[in-house]
Amino acid sequence: MSDAAQRASDQFAAEYGRQPEGVWSAPGRVNLIGEHTDYNGGLVLPFAIDRRTYCAVARREDRVLRVRSATIEGEAQIAIDDLAPEALDGWSAYALGVAWAISQPIAGEPGADLAAASGLDIFLTSEVPLGAGLSSSAAIECAVAVALNELWGLGLDRMALARAGRLAENVAVGAPTGIMDQCASLLGEEDHAVFLDCGTESAESVPLHLDREHLSVLVIDTGVRHEHATGGYGDRRASCERGAEILNVPSLRFVLEEDLPRAASVLDEETYRRVRHVVTESARVASTVRTLQNEGPQAIGDLLLASHASMRDDFEISVPELDLAVESAVRHGALGARMTGGGFGGAAIALVASDAVGEIAAKVTEDFSAAGFGAPRCFKVVPSDGAHRDI
Ligand code: ADP
Ligand code: MG
Repeated sequence: MSDAAQRASDQFAAEYGRQPEGVWSAPGRVNLIGEHTDYNGGLVLPFAIDRRTYCAVARREDRVLRVRSATIEGEAQIAIDDLAPEALDGWSAYALGVAWAISQPIAGEPGADLAAASGLDIFLTSEVPLGAGLSSSAAIECAVAVALNELWGLGLDRMALARAGRLAENVAVGAPTGIMDQCASLLGEEDHAVFLDCGTESAESVPLHLDREHLSVLVIDTGVRHEHATGGYGDRRASCERGAEILNVPSLRFVLEEDLPRAASVLDEETYRRVRHVVTESARVASTVRTLQNEGPQAIGDLLLASHASMRDDFEISVPELDLAVESAVRHGALGARMTGGGFGGAAIALVASDAVGEIAAKVTEDFSAAGFGAPRCFKVVPSDGAHRDI
């Protein structure tokens, strides 16, 4: 049992004056490769990280759901019968939104019957930094989802829980994200990545062998948080939808690399570059999986770099700080690096020899200072287990 889970249990007891029945947790994630492919029905390759959100819970006699978090002040309460997207707001919508979403029909499944569900007291603690691109949002959703699944005896499988998490985020919170983050958080395994086909929603665990090859993934959080991140994300989605419409396909999933010359002849220049990013990025995910299987992680560096160049030049979602993080990490010995996450700020990842993590982080920090940028936050992430019960 982890210390963090025990602390979540102790904090629950201090907050609510009784012991929790259990503690469940779910990790944040980083995306190794496959950016802006998820909502195009393409391929992604994230992994769950060694930073988790813990959810301590006890059932109540009534039908009230009550949630508090160590991270953000305040308490939210709602009766199960009143659950509805418009009745939820603020941070608690991530947690309580899952309780609502689980009862909704999704992907041909009818949705759980909550007629006999008991009320719950929930307390959340988190090691995943909020808004840093490590998906604290999926971590909170998935920790709550596995807890509800067990305490309410729902018997839902992991993919159904992932869909409920996404529905909560899309509708109760109102963030139009894909299903990658929830899948990484629910399906992650130690030293493995989650190879997810967002079109068919099928997932496969791919060994990374980072330990065996003495490699590590270093996160370089630039600290840049652009206000136009949300707008930029929406614009790129719209470009992809326009591209698919003109090419007369349901989504860019159905455009292959060999279709690109035709795409170039019918799309305007900018839309074409957006489409080219998505199509080549999905192909790079498939190549990365093949390379991992055939040659091992030391051989994927160039794919990471090609992914970054595509996001910088074709999708235009990088910023100077991210470009410097990638260029500097590689100049100081990383095997490959790329920005990760939605773009317009946030973090880059670098694949580095485990014994060079500290040195490369220090050099990148020096280069940031020389460029007049604020100091980045550098830390190693370890591919870890997905959501589970801790206590
Ligand atoms: P990211 O997923 O990259 O961390 P998001 O903006 O998607 O960023 O999600 C962050 C939001 O999720 C926070 O602003 C907060 O509303 C909610 N959240 C995440 N973790 C917690 C937590 N432990 N307690 C309360 N709210 C949380
Ligand atoms: Mg998020």
